[in-house]
Amino acid sequence: MNIKITSKEYVEYIELVTKKIEENKDYITKLDSITGDGDHWVNINMGFQKLVENKELLLSLKLGDMFKKIGMLIMSTVGGSSGVLYGSAFIGAAKTIGDKEEMDINLLCDVLEAELNAIMERGNAKPNFKTMIDSMYPAVNAMKDALDKKLDDYDALQAMKQGAIDGMNSTKDMEAVRGRACYQPNKGVGHLDPGAVTMCYQLEVLVDYLCK
Ligand code: ADP
Ligand code: MG
Repeated sequence: MNIKITSKEYVEYIELVTKKIEENKDYITKLDSITGDGDHWVNINMGFQKLVENKELLLSLKLGDMFKKIGMLIMSTVGGSSGVLYGSAFIGAAKTIGDKEEMDINLLCDVLEAELNAIMERGNAKPNFKTMIDSMYPAVNAMKDALDKKLDDYDALQAMKQGAIDGMNSTKDMEAVRGRACYQPNKGVGHLDPGAVTMCYQLEVLVDYLCK
């Protein structure tokens, strides 16, 4: 299997993520009510709905310009930490894409790494701080390892998905160092980080879409 992602595929993927987020309103809201202020679902849902509303505009743009536009739409629509962090992620990835019109597996891996680095830089955060980074970091590393070992696209994507799921689950026992959970008396221990869960959804949906 050889993947190929143009603006068209990426917009299809965004529609699927939007659906997945819509379906998990109560769960994500509950998680952020326990560890934060309860608005994470509203924030992330608002961002993705905005992207779907702008579907035709996004489809008209070349991949890199589309990523930049996605970042700007999210930044101007979404409040909370996630707006700034996701905005920076897409704008950072746009630079990695440059004027290429499509992504193969290697460029996709570089793009995900650029998103991860932009989030870590913007949020001044690292792995193990109980944030969205904890889904993305192991996912990107698993994908890089798989590609280094010359595994095919399907196996590299499945490794990425498993890394995201394991990373998300690992946030349960972490003490928060960033985000509102660090103001909780128990630093959120015993609960998954909502941002790690919604990040995991995005990576899982991406893999399932590309492997279908
Ligand atoms: P807010 O925390 O401002 O209410 P959201 O509720 O939308 O914003 O997002 C909360 C999520 O953002 C957290 O669950 C965590 O995953 C992520 N997050 C918070 N601060 C940071 C940070 N500095 N770096 C990376 N991710 C962060
Ligand atoms: Mg919140």
